[in-house]
Amino acid sequence: MSKGLFDTHTHLNDPWYQEEQIETKEIIESAKKVGVSYFCNVGFDVKSSKRALTQALKYKEVYAAVGIHPNEAHKVDIDLETEEIETLANGDKVVAIGEIGLDYFHNGKKYRDQQIKLLELQIDVAKKHNFPVALHIRDEEGKEDAYLDALEIIDRKKVKSGIIHCYTQGPELAQKFIERGFYISIPGIVTFKSAKALHKTVREISINFLLLETDAPYLAPEPMRGKINTSSYIAYTADYVANLKNMDVQDIITATATNAKKVFKISLT
Ligand SMILES: [Zn+2]
Repeated sequence: MSKGLFDTHTHLNDPWYQEEQIETKEIIESAKKVGVSYFCNVGFDVKSSKRALTQALKYKEVYAAVGIHPNEAHKVDIDLETEEIETLANGDKVVAIGEIGLDYFHNGKKYRDQQIKLLELQIDVAKKHNFPVALHIRDEEGKEDAYLDALEIIDRKKVKSGIIHCYTQGPELAQKFIERGFYISIPGIVTFKSAKALHKTVREISINFLLLETDAPYLAPEPMRGKINTSSYIAYTADYVANLKNMDVQDIITATATNAKKVFKISLT
């Protein structure tokens, strides 16, 4: 059986689990049974970031990322909430600032200015604490504006370490982030037949720059597509990546977990 899997982006803190009365402990235990050894529990606003940290302090396998999602940018007091994230970033077991980024999918570029301000302030928090950033970048269908804006901001703010969470694009764009010190995190979407660009990325990009994630409770991989996702399903993603790369699944798991520990600066064996 495989072991040592690192789910680099999950939301044990998500209210959906509470609504379904699925216990955190239960999720962790069932994931451990299929070989998941580490979890990065990611916040998306102040409340969920606090919860991410509380859960990380409770369970030894769980680490936390704290941050405010770009879709919150037009709803919150950016300066005030960033200060809260700055405070949370001092917590033990916080390993990244995320998920932060740019999302032009839901409202186009209507809130671009607010999103950029929120992103830049949180990048400052990450740099101050020497944390990587976990970036959520999402474009309108067929466009690349959010990715291009992200690259410009990374260069201008001299960001040296981060993760492109839930990557679904082709290898050329991935390479641009890798050149800047980023890792590319592969979601369960990779198991979808339609994800041709992502398949090409996984085939062409060295395993030394890839991570695995669930983004649970969202985006369950095949054959669980459409169900509530949990970290245990990351095993399907690992298998699929192993097939695409024509590598042994345990080698995929070990390499991606090593990458995760490197980017999160976790010194465990
Ligand atoms: Zn997420």
